[in-house]
Amino acid sequence: MEDINLFLAHAVELEREAARRYEELADSMRTDGNTEVEKFFRQMAVFSRKHLAQAVERGGFRLIPALTPTEYVWPDGLSPEQFDWIGVDCMIDVNNALEIALDGERRGHAFYADIATITGDPEVRAMAQEFAAEEAEHVAELEKWIDRYASQK
Ligand code: ZN
Repeated sequence: MEDINLFLAHAVELEREAARRYEELADSMRTDGNTEVEKFFRQMAVFSRKHLAQAVERGGFRLIPALTPTEYVWPDGLSPEQFDWIGVDCMIDVNNALEIALDGERRGHAFYADIATITGDPEVRAMAQEFAAEEAEHVAELEKWIDRYASQK
């Protein structure tokens, strides 16, 4: 990926997916009666949107192209933070919900880290590195929550 606007178009879609996923997970935690994790997921949804908006604004990028589905270049043809809802219903428990969230963050991290490694464009590389670092923090945060719930079992 050699074009900063193309990169940002992917990042926009990825963060949008992430926010959507967190909101759905938050809803399932409300059903489950876990207000603590519900709150955490809602906060993560806000962070996904906010971080991206800030990065775009700081870079002064206002012409992010709207891509058609076939113009995206995702590994395996899928948005990395998109995950499989098959078998996931509103009755998932907190451990499942945290694992699903972790999986999404890991794939998001891998996506940005790969781009940072392979791109020849310094602007794309800098931003992909920044986004990868952000996703690494999310992974670490999720792992903390998972440890906490595992120790309560
Ligand atoms: Zn993330």
